[in-house]
Amino acid sequence: MKIEHKEDRRVQEESLSAILENVGCGVCVKDFEENRFLFTNECFRKMFKNSITGSKLDYLFSDPAVWGEERNEAYMEEEDKWFTIHHREIPWADGKMVSLYTVYDITKTKRYQKKIEHQANNDFLTGLYNRMRCELDLTKYIRQAKAENGEGALLYIDLDDFKHINDGLGHRYGDVLLKAISLSLQKIHGIETSCYRMGGDEFVIIISQREYQMLDYILNEIAEIFSKPWFLKGADYYCTMSMGIVRFPTNGDNVQELIQKADIALYEAKRQGKNRCEFYNDKVETSSFKRLDLEKNMRNATRNACEEFEVFYQPIMDGAQTGNPCVGAEALIRWNSQNLGFISPADFIPLAEYLGLINPIGGFVLQKACERCKYWNDRGHQEYKVNVNLSVVQLLQNDIVDQVAQVLKDTGIRPCNLTLEVTESLAVNDMARMKQILGRIKSLGVRVALDDFGTGYSSLNHIREMPIDVIKIDRCFIRDIGKDEFADVFVKIVGELADTIGMNLCVEGVETREQYEKLKKMNISLVQGFYFDKPLPVEEFERKYL
Ligand code: C2E
Ligand code: MG
Ligand code: MG
Repeated sequence: MKIEHKEDRRVQEESLSAILENVGCGVCVKDFEENRFLFTNECFRKMFKNSITGSKLDYLFSDPAVWGEERNEAYMEEEDKWFTIHHREIPWADGKMVSLYTVYDITKTKRYQKKIEHQANNDFLTGLYNRMRCELDLTKYIRQAKAENGEGALLYIDLDDFKHINDGLGHRYGDVLLKAISLSLQKIHGIETSCYRMGGDEFVIIISQREYQMLDYILNEIAEIFSKPWFLKGADYYCTMSMGIVRFPTNGDNVQELIQKADIALYEAKRQGKNRCEFYNDKVETSSFKRLDLEKNMRNATRNACEEFEVFYQPIMDGAQTGNPCVGAEALIRWNSQNLGFISPADFIPLAEYLGLINPIGGFVLQKACERCKYWNDRGHQEYKVNVNLSVVQLLQNDIVDQVAQVLKDTGIRPCNLTLEVTESLAVNDMARMKQILGRIKSLGVRVALDDFGTGYSSLNHIREMPIDVIKIDRCFIRDIGKDEFADVFVKIVGELADTIGMNLCVEGVETREQYEKLKKMNISLVQGFYFDKPLPVEEFERKYL
């Protein structure tokens, strides 16, 4: 009997230890009174390479009070491994209470978790932290600044005309540029771990109150990055940025408010001509509320088939013409907002460009103007032409040439009676692309005018290379004509140049008889301005000129 019993026990013990060896987790039993292990399974011994003593985890198995009954996580540096450890007190064979530990290796899960966390916190393209992480960190920095009675700053950066590089060189190069910029930003001392990409070409930098005294230095370093060209696709490209700056907690003490105010300041920087930094202040705010209002109303207005927009026509005169001097008109958009009243294009076109609403609005003007001109042509003024302003944003649309072709087809206007006015606000490096698009537009038979000449990046060299039919001198030169020698000479020289290279010259902003007389003496015949007529509603234009 006794033997049998012993045999029974042996079998029991064997199967028990087989189970313990195969449970898939580390198991150990420790007697704390004698400070020794009573049992360890193989899995446990492997996990700790037989050397729990001396390992940094030693303490885990030395004081059950540290762990109690709960599941706990521990990291072992030597092996770069993560464990969860469960502990409970059990009676041992001799009735003594001892500690039983089960240990699970969760390194794989941990690594996976970290990867997911990284993906959730970091921007896939640049490796910078993303918007989500930015908001988390900002909350932390605001709290810190408040607690320590300090001040921090948030810099909101938006690249200027990044779209041109992206569209012009292709997204691949756009990506290269974004990565290079990210890398340079991260190298600036003091902000190594507080640069964020918010999406697209927008970056945020947070300056905690500990680094706040370095603000000027950091701003200089950032400016330095953008003052140098980037070598892309075999050529040097300049890419500038605009920046809005807010201080916390001075300007706001929650994430949403700060980001909104930084965006307001950023928009102000853009509005003032880009390539600059603006600090947020309340004055900007007043105009920004207007802007938010404007934004909301403009979105609605474009949704409603552009009903609130109206195209006015300003006649263009040819002084050399006998009889009726009118040779056509420039289409100029007007927005009569139901909520905001009348808004000048100078105020809403830049915002429409910024918001990407210029395409539907511009498309509307193009369609209307061509319809109208076709109507004039059919009503006995075959020679009347219409000029339509095209924003650079529109011009860089991939399908702009198709859009124009479609309007020609829809309205039946003769292509040579449509002139598209473009400006030179493009960075010089996009010239090649601009030339190519204009060339394709011209091959439709449409004419191209260079608007506001003299105010942009104009280089006379480019003029010669560009597929342009008409140069329109900006009205600031005409304002000074007869008063400022430079203005006189400029207009005269551009007139002669246009003649030489076979382009037409149109002078806008002619307000007085004297100005007109002066221009006539310079042999300039194509003119436009209040002296003849203001931009007129279509009925009025037709009453006078049809
Ligand atoms: P712009 O193309 O250079 O148009 C000429 C501007 O000068 C017009 O201002 C016109 O009313 C004004 N003007 C004409 N003659 C005189 C004059 O004798 N004296 C003075 N002081 N001003 C004169 P407007 O209509 O306010 O348009 C401003 C700008 O907004 C335009 O400049 C153009 O760049 C833009 N714009 C207007 N309509 C459109 C459009 O449909 N699409 C786009 N993309 N831009 C447009
Ligand atoms: Mg124009
Ligand atoms: Mg102009």
